[in-house]
Amino acid sequence: MLSGSGWATCRIWDGSTKHRENVGYCTNALADLLKGVTGLYGPDGVQRFSFDLEPVEARWILRRRSSDVNITDRHFPDMLTSFDAPDGEGTLVWTSTRPRTCLAHAVLMAAEKVRRTHGEDGYLQKWQLYAFPTTELETLRPLHLTTDNCPLQH
Ligand SMILES: [Zn+2]
Repeated sequence: MLSGSGWATCRIWDGSTKHRENVGYCTNALADLLKGVTGLYGPDGVQRFSFDLEPVEARWILRRRSSDVNITDRHFPDMLTSFDAPDGEGTLVWTSTRPRTCLAHAVLMAAEKVRRTHGEDGYLQKWQLYAFPTTELETLRPLHLTTDNCPLQH
């Protein structure tokens, strides 16, 4: 969800625990999220990307475990200095293990909702530095549809 200019609210829930973060516009956050989930269909079992909470770094670590994904969100006090810091130095703020198909489905639906709500022009106006990640969205969608056998509506 995009709020004011240059800020987005990231909300994630797994049915039991909810978590939200306000993400600044200095990184291409939605594209990074889509690419991270797309990476879970490749040979690398671990994907990382960071949201800039200005100044806090929210580092998301996705670990594939057969058909499940362990999702961890760790916070570091200052994005400018924490890029090299090992995951273990961050404060664990949220973790959950979900089937990959559920994660991919939720991320796809969320990205599409953002596009429906704001349009690609509106997105660029609000996010300013980055266009809506159409390529990343259209890369993840066929992987999810063909590999996961998702029974839900798209
Ligand atoms: Zn689906």
